[in-house]
Amino acid sequence: MQPPLPPVSRDIVLIGGGHAHVGVLKRFAMRPEPGVRLTLICRDTHTPYSGMLPGYVAGHYGYDEVHIDLRRLAQYAGARFFRDEAVGIDHEARSVRCRSRPPVPYDWLSINIGSTPRLDATAGAGEHAVPVKPIHRFNARWQTLLERIEADPGPIRVAVVGGGAGGVELLLAMQVRLHRELAVRGRDPGELTFALFTRGARILPTHNARVRAHFEATLRRRGIEVHTATEVVAVEAGRLQAADGRWHAADEVVWVTNAGGADWLRDTRLMLDDDGFIEVGDTLQSLSDPRVFAAGDIAHQVNHPREKAGVFAVRQGRPLADNLRAAVTGRRLRPYRPQARWLSLISTGDRHAVASRGGLYLAGDWVWRWKDWIDRRFMARFNDLPPRPSA
Ligand SMILES: Cc1cc2nc3c(=O)[nH]c(=O)nc-3n(C[C@H](O)[C@H](O)[C@H](O)COP(=O)(O)OP(=O)(O)OC[C@H]3O[C@@H](n4cnc5c(N)ncnc54)[C@H](O)[C@@H]3O)c2cc1C
Repeated sequence: MQPPLPPVSRDIVLIGGGHAHVGVLKRFAMRPEPGVRLTLICRDTHTPYSGMLPGYVAGHYGYDEVHIDLRRLAQYAGARFFRDEAVGIDHEARSVRCRSRPPVPYDWLSINIGSTPRLDATAGAGEHAVPVKPIHRFNARWQTLLERIEADPGPIRVAVVGGGAGGVELLLAMQVRLHRELAVRGRDPGELTFALFTRGARILPTHNARVRAHFEATLRRRGIEVHTATEVVAVEAGRLQAADGRWHAADEVVWVTNAGGADWLRDTRLMLDDDGFIEVGDTLQSLSDPRVFAAGDIAHQVNHPREKAGVFAVRQGRPLADNLRAAVTGRRLRPYRPQARWLSLISTGDRHAVASRGGLYLAGDWVWRWKDWIDRRFMARFNDLPPRPSA
């Protein structure tokens, strides 16, 4: 017979199933904290692993291979799973307001809800462009585009707005996949044209010159138009307008620009930076409310600002879990310092990738196989769940 479970005396509530929170759930599953109840509130039941998203678009992976099943992971961790969207925080009552269910009380709260590309500043973008996040919305539009290509012969022009690694990688993946879809139907890949628009003077501004040169050459070779120093100021059905007043044809506009924090956070008492991200100290606690932690894209570590990248969210999983555990058991919290340099593995859609880290540049099919191995190993940690030690 199982011994009776200790009564719940403290509640940790996690908002968002981002890369840090899946790490927290896994760690609490492997080492449960007696008397502590975990609750995950997430808008989606499946959360994508960003590193494999371009590979999914390129057709290298199926949906289940790139998504973590949050309901299953929560169950494994003995946590409650509420499929809902958090829309507010009542700091006095210590509860989370949700779109559909009654408020969820917490003793300690953690937020890992990612970021959203900003469309509100560009006329018509909210209506006519598709942001890469939330991912279910992008995926639905992507499936529609695939069906349209299948059914509807004729020229289509795809524009991606955003010249960072996410935008470039996604564009190259879309091109490979859509050309393949046309080829298997015996159609001319020339029916499809692609363009990249970026405000910056160069693509991949945070990467070294050799990495940039590799991608510039790849885009040129693949016949993709690149418009640098071109801010998109308006989007209409079938076209977009640059700041110089020129209109460019675009049947599909995908938005992968710099992102901001969710609007609802502005109505909380949390201190936010200019882009709407939650300002946190070294222990990942909010500067204005130490009962609230934040990690991943939505957190701005004020002493160690970093680029928004999934790698930081993944790495924060361990210190976040340790500090939530310390907070709930009344122990001392530890500071966390993210790495100053990190490895980016950026793919070109055709099972080829480039490694970038500081001044390091490596490229080849083997780099893609290396990336594939790392990504699959990461996903296996959450999808091939070992028996729990307590079970
Ligand atoms: C095409 C592309 C490729 C990329 N490739 C890489 C890469 O190779 N390596 C890398 O390091 N980074 C990459 N990035 C960046 C990476 O996607 C982000 O930095 C990363 O996803 C951030 O993770 P996160 O844990 O903060 O949040 P996310 O992964 O965005 O997860 C947020 C979660 O919160 C949920 N949520 C959101 N709002 C609410 C709410 N109000 N209530 C409840 N739940 C909510 C969402 O449903 C989601 O489950 C890429 C980005 C793009 C666009």
